Order: sequence, then structure tokens, then C-alpha cells
Amino acid sequence: MSAPRALLNDFIPFSNVDGPGNRFVLFLQGCNFDCTFCHNPYTISTCIDCEICIEPCPEDALSLDTDGSVTVDWGRCTRCDICVDVCPYDSTPLARQVTVDEIFSEIRAAAPFLSGITVSGGEATLQPGFVAALFAEIKTHPDTRHLTTFVDSNGSCSPETWDVLLPVMDGAMIDIKAFDDAIHVALTGVGNGRVLDSIRYLARRNRLHEVRLPLISGVNDADDLLTRTARWIASIDPALRVKVIGFRKHGVRAEYQDLAEPTADQMEHYEQVLSAAGVSEIVRV
Ligand code: SF4
Ligand code: SF4
Repeated sequence: MSAPRALLNDFIPFSNVDGPGNRFVLFLQGCNFDCTFCHNPYTISTCIDCEICIEPCPEDALSLDTDGSVTVDWGRCTRCDICVDVCPYDSTPLARQVTVDEIFSEIRAAAPFLSGITVSGGEATLQPGFVAALFAEIKTHPDTRHLTTFVDSNGSCSPETWDVLLPVMDGAMIDIKAFDDAIHVALTGVGNGRVLDSIRYLARRNRLHEVRLPLISGVNDADDLLTRTARWIASIDPALRVKVIGFRKHGVRAEYQDLAEPTADQMEHYEQVLSAAGVSEIVRV
């Protein structure tokens, strides 16, 4: 059997905003949601080799391979991201196939300075074989087994996929983009049934690090909706950690730039509403 590989958008060796402590973060390419407020929409789709980005590259770093795929000359590429900006398909020619061994060697080099690793996206759970194999290697090797293994997910995967990850995954961070299904569909293109199932499934197995509420002013932040959301979360576990994330326009596609950012007063109000409805641990960012 061949070793699992993943289509990787990029990684950052140190982050303190993607889970507890200092973390190595992988961003896998490809997502099954199409969120209006996505801050990195170039991770949503896989490249369809349309060639549109080849000519705008100022370094002539892109070309068409003999198999018809757009390839990057990494010796020329300056990571200016012009190709990403011109792609009309929410993709990038810079995503690349990586092996567990390649990524593990990067993590091992940074391990003395890390608390853990987070696999994000795109949607991390769309490539579960790679994530499970990477986490298993981290948990086994003496240089890395002190690291915690987390997944940052949209919560859409099945229990069977979580079962692949659970033996080697310490925690997951799951968004509720909207507790109301119709609003969830409007925001993401997909219903929220699987998301809520995942939260219940992981909480029962003590693998849910936090639930995240990305809130957009006037879209998914009504008091009655937040109250229903908080009551549902509290019914699972009132001590579940809830992170309230105020929408920011940075990186969001041009057609969604009219979405409104919550003010500081609104963020405080959200916390009050959630707390009054039974959630005890709330973090605001
Ligand atoms: S980031 Fe894209 S456009 Fe910029 S040099 Fe690299 S391949 Fe060319
Ligand atoms: S990255 Fe986008 S623009 Fe470039 S070839 Fe792929 S789909 Fe086309």
C-alpha cells in the first residue's frame, strides 16, 4: 500500500491562534463548504488547470506540463501570490502533493519549540488517511510524542471518518456557522446537520476542544439565534469552551465585502447573551 499523501496549500511552523499554545499548522487544499465569509478562499477548490494564471506570473514560474497540469518552478517563484489573486476558481497553482515523511521532518525540526500540531484547511477531514498517518507518526516518535494533535474542521465529516482520526487525535475545533439551518445553507451552501452531529459525537468522546461561532453583524448574530445556540451547546456540556469570532473582511472575496463586522460593543453583547443562556466558558477574538 502506498504511503498516504495530501494536497497541501501551505504550512506555518509557529502559530498561537490555531489551538492551545504554540502550534505547527497545516492548511490542506480543498473544502466542501463555500463560505461567504471565508478568509482564505483560495483553499476551497483544487486547480482545474485552466491556464489563466500562467501569463500573469511576473517570474515566468508557471507552465503547462506534458500531462496538461499547471506546474510551478519553485526556483523562480517569489510567492508574490499574483497567480492566487487572478484565479477565478478559488484555487491556487501553488498547492502541492506532500508525503507524511516530508511534513513529519518539518514538524520534528520545530518540535522543541511547539505545543502541538493543528491540521486546518480547506477542510482537514477530507484527507483523513494522511491526517491519521501523520498524527500516528507524531504520537510514536520520541522527538514529537509530547505534541498534541488537533483538527480545525467545519464538522461536516461522518462518524466513520472521525473514528479514523480519534485514536490519534487529541482534540477538534468545530465551527457552528449558524445554528439555524436555512442561515447555514445561505452562508456555506450546505446544511448544518452533520456539523451538529459531529459536535455531539466528539463531545461524548471527550475530543472537542472548542466550538467556534463566527459571527457576522446582521446575518447570524440575532439574540434569539444565539440563545438557541447556547442552550443547545449547554445541553451537551455547559462547560464546553465557546470561542466567539467576530467577522473581519480581510481576505474575503470582493463580492462579500459588504458583510458587516461586529463592533466591540456587539462582541460584548454576544458574550452576555451566550452566558445568560448557559454557556460558562467563552473566549472572544
Ligand atoms: S506566486 Fe504565483 S505569480 Fe507569483 S511568482 Fe510564484 S507562481 Fe508566479
Ligand atoms: S490555479 Fe486557478 S487560474 Fe491557475 S490553472 Fe488552476 S484553476 Fe486555473
